[in-house]
Amino acid sequence: MSAPPRVLTVAGSDSAGGAGIQADLKTMLALGVHGMSVITAVTAQNSLGVQGAWPLPVEAVIAQYRSVVDDIGVQAVKTGMLASAELVEAVAELLGGTDAPAVVDPVGGSKHGDSLLAASALDSVRTKLLPVATVATPNLDEVAQLTGLRVDSEDDLRRAAAAVLAYGPRWVVIKGGHLAGDAVDLLTDGSEEHWLRAPRHDNRHTHGTGCTLASAIASELAKGRAVPEAVTAAKAYVTGAIAAGFALGGGIGPVDHAW
Ligand code: PLP
Repeated sequence: MSAPPRVLTVAGSDSAGGAGIQADLKTMLALGVHGMSVITAVTAQNSLGVQGAWPLPVEAVIAQYRSVVDDIGVQAVKTGMLASAELVEAVAELLGGTDAPAVVDPVGGSKHGDSLLAASALDSVRTKLLPVATVATPNLDEVAQLTGLRVDSEDDLRRAAAAVLAYGPRWVVIKGGHLAGDAVDLLTDGSEEHWLRAPRHDNRHTHGTGCTLASAIASELAKGRAVPEAVTAAKAYVTGAIAAGFALGGGIGPVDHAW
């Protein structure tokens, strides 16, 4: 049997299994690609929040990446929690050396408001990581952190997309899920615009949504799809996963990767 497309996630571990590396690998399994992982940080977390986070040494991250890429090769890479400026810069340099498309989820914090990225790393995200991204997938909090822009309307989404594109990613998906009404995302490369709408699901169990979308985009790119088709398919997958999200523990449960 021939090997499925290979996708690599470079992200943090979520002990609760709903976000981070665990969400990424589950998404990749569901979408029929071979998932591999470079762990950047270990977190202790559950449905109530993040109780602790320990970044790995830069050399441990580089060694994991080299092991996988030099032997097995990848058709797409996804990045998530990178924790520190040192890790952001090391990962940006690694991505700069590969032809594989890179989906960069510029993770700033969790839904509970716990920080997953040092404030001192924001400039490295802007100037080193975003320029090597094929697709960047900020949510509205991350847009505010990176650009200083507040998004209250669909017109603001356009302005936010332009501000993020100015840092150099080829495409950006601004996730407008926190706006009122339908869950609308804007995908653009500065010339094409794709408005991705999905009905809002009244489900609070959404832990892992962002990780799942970015991994799904990477999985579809690895299959050879163009960016607009990959993002459209990924949005459909994450919408189903949100609709099927379930309660776990006493707080916010995960999306269902196996819906
Ligand atoms: N934990 C890790 C390791 C993550 O990478 C992320 C998101 O990217 C989260 C937690 C936050 O997930 P959520 O905002 O869906 O709760």
